[in-house]
Amino acid sequence: MADFSFDVLVIGSGASGLAAAVAAARSGARVAVATKGALQSCNSAKAQGGIQAAFGEDDSPEQHAQDVWESSHETADRDLVEILTTEAPFAIHWLEELGVEFTRENGGYRLARCGGASRKRLLQVGDRTGHAITTALRDVVESAAIHTFPKSPLADLARTENGWRARCGDHAIDATTVVLAAGGRCYREAEERGELSTNHPGATGEVTQIAIDLGAEVRDFDALQYHPNGGAWPPNMQGYSIPETTRAYGAVLLNADGEEFTDSLGPRDSVSRAIFDEVENGKGVETPDGRPAVYLDTTRIPESDANVSLPYMLRRYRAGGIDPLSERLLTYPVLHYQNGGLVIDANAETTVEGVYACGEIAGGTHGRNRMMGNSLLECCVFGRRAGSAAAEKANI
Ligand SMILES: Cc1cc2nc3c(=O)[nH]c(=O)nc-3n(C[C@H](O)[C@H](O)[C@H](O)COP(=O)(O)OP(=O)(O)OC[C@H]3O[C@@H](n4cnc5c(N)ncnc54)[C@H](O)[C@@H]3O)c2cc1C
Repeated sequence: MADFSFDVLVIGSGASGLAAAVAAARSGARVAVATKGALQSCNSAKAQGGIQAAFGEDDSPEQHAQDVWESSHETADRDLVEILTTEAPFAIHWLEELGVEFTRENGGYRLARCGGASRKRLLQVGDRTGHAITTALRDVVESAAIHTFPKSPLADLARTENGWRARCGDHAIDATTVVLAAGGRCYREAEERGELSTNHPGATGEVTQIAIDLGAEVRDFDALQYHPNGGAWPPNMQGYSIPETTRAYGAVLLNADGEEFTDSLGPRDSVSRAIFDEVENGKGVETPDGRPAVYLDTTRIPESDANVSLPYMLRRYRAGGIDPLSERLLTYPVLHYQNGGLVIDANAETTVEGVYACGEIAGGTHGRNRMMGNSLLECCVFGRRAGSAAAEKANI
């Protein structure tokens, strides 16, 4: 006997789960969100850099899609990519309707170019974009009739006559449809490898395994992404992801001899590989505690850009005794993102009927190499799709 019964149960309270919950509730469904820790705990809130959408005069959803395709090394699911980039501007306006205020300049959005992009396309909220998006979504969830179960990790999901029964912490919850939005597994992977990660401790991947055990298919699951610019020094910044927008606003990577050795705004995997190679070839530097590193020359960023688009990063480094505008940073790649995941269709339904997946737990949109700024976008575009479709299937 279940303790609770809903039309749609969402697992996870990052940007994708919150977006799904809002969309399902707006479709008229009785919705619950069960999450592992506090409602605020997730990777989404840590995202600093921004979210992509083609708003530039020289840009288009087709160009955005082409950049995704090339950055993925032609491994992404083209149908999912087309949905992602076509719906991107609508997702931005939806977020604005919920209260997110993107940084503006000259009457339009302040747009930056991120790694692998051919155009300036990255919208930002200073350098706390994920925080702004999750705060706005959470405010809507908390003010709507959406039941939340914090500290209730999903441990088991079983089919019932009319849908699913989930064991979430101490609760048995019935739901007609389920949306899995429990993020990736890079925190656990990094622990197992003895490496640093940018991820939140909740990013452990057990929900993907639950779905696999139910028969769900995965794709590109081995493809994990290193963020090219993990903080390497001082110790309090180890595992911090220095926003890619530092490079968008002029920072470049330098080796021990002060030479540029790669296109600092190339696709993420190429930039990370170039850093690994440079260090392997003896052209790296060492941190005071003996870790490998190269330089990120942030002194080239104009102060006016840094003040508008990198205030949080500046504050964090300055608190550790380093001013990024007057000295170079030490950086090395860190484990960051699960590129692949559960196979989904255009409605974000997995290969198990009635079970949906959105956000980092899902695969296909980025193929084997994600571009920066497309994950928050994926959370919003496919979170909304998952929530609406899950509500519809629950016969709302
Ligand atoms: C430091 C950092 C910076 C980033 N910067 C950017 C950026 O600038 N732009 C961009 O687009 N992307 C960025 N990303 C990537 C992006 O933020 C994430 O990939 C994305 O937000 C993931 O959202 P999600 O909803 O899928 O997962 P998450 O936000 O990770 O949320 C997953 C949720 O599931 C919960 N959960 C986990 N296991 C269980 C369980 N067993 N039961 C119930 N709940 C569970 C977690 O507690 C959490 O609430 C960044 C990521 C990090 C870590």
